[in-house]
Amino acid sequence: MWIVPEAEIAGLLGRQESFDAVEAVFAAMARGDAYNFPVIRESIGHADALYGFKSGFDRTGLSLGLKSGGYWPGNEARGLTNHQSTVFLFDADTGQAKAVVGGNLLTALRTAAASAVSIKHLARADARVLGMIGAGHQSAFQLRAAVEQRDFEKIVGWNLHPEMLSRLDDVANEVGLPFEAVSLDELGAQSDVIISITSSFAPSLRDAQVRPGTHLACMGTDTKGKQEVEASLLTRSRVFTDEIAQSITIGEAQHAVGQGLIDAEQITEIGAVINGTQAGRQTAKDITLFDGTGVGLQDLAVASAVVDLAIEQGIAIKVAL
Ligand code: NAD
Repeated sequence: MWIVPEAEIAGLLGRQESFDAVEAVFAAMARGDAYNFPVIRESIGHADALYGFKSGFDRTGLSLGLKSGGYWPGNEARGLTNHQSTVFLFDADTGQAKAVVGGNLLTALRTAAASAVSIKHLARADARVLGMIGAGHQSAFQLRAAVEQRDFEKIVGWNLHPEMLSRLDDVANEVGLPFEAVSLDELGAQSDVIISITSSFAPSLRDAQVRPGTHLACMGTDTKGKQEVEASLLTRSRVFTDEIAQSITIGEAQHAVGQGLIDAEQITEIGAVINGTQAGRQTAKDITLFDGTGVGLQDLAVASAVVDLAIEQGIAIKVAL
């Protein structure tokens, strides 16, 4: 089997490869060629840690395996990242272990790729202002991937902790776009595309703050109880997701569905839009909302791509199990 260390991922997998892998696996999910197994996530009663695994199988790409890891709040004090993950791939023909891959950077790349895929397929072609809600670790990856999808001219950002906004300013500089820190009212009034990537358990963005024609990628809500936007916004939106089962249980739609504001049947898998079997945006006035919950198949897709590249470039380490 092969090992691809975390430190090698950055040199192997770029945004385009991540985008292609995630777009392809969303399409495979909607065709019924790939499916996620039920997610396990538990508080383990040690080190305040949340641990779990996400797994699945893509019959088209032959990616079989799981991402295992979670959140260790004490890690930062040890000089480690709080979120930790590792991907394990298995040979779909034999069940033998195929690869162990560092999953931390891959998680950021595949999450950013998901919102970028949603922008490609759902945002207005003339979108010019990108609004960012959240300025944590993931936000920089989100921003870099998003600006590649439209001819954005400006980035506006809001964060509950304003001192963190320098991260967005730095990335905006890196990609050559002006950045302005704004209130949520201003953010909604100016933005054509809004990405939210926070760990909030209460809505930041209000329904009334979002104007017609906006595309939203709600990427932070991946757990029961988390919420980034007011539930009533989903009643005005055409709602899309990576996987409906996750969207209504751990995604942003859990609140609107739980309060009876929308039905699961009103939510469309983005893969169906990619495949052309369901409509995406229909008018310039539509509000489109992508509920990006994060599925195991995304991890397997980018991990498979990185293993192929690592073997090709002689970077993967071969070990006998
Ligand atoms: P981080 O800890 O680096 O940053 C957290 C962000 O949330 C910061 O901007 C912080 O200011 C903001 N925040 C914290 N409490 C808030 C509140 N009460 N209201 C509004 N904002 C608040 O985290 P990160 O690594 O950037 O991840 C952000 C979120 O994305 C997390 O919830 C994480 O679980 C989620 N995530 C989702 C996916 C997915 O596939 N959907 C993948 C990775 C991470």
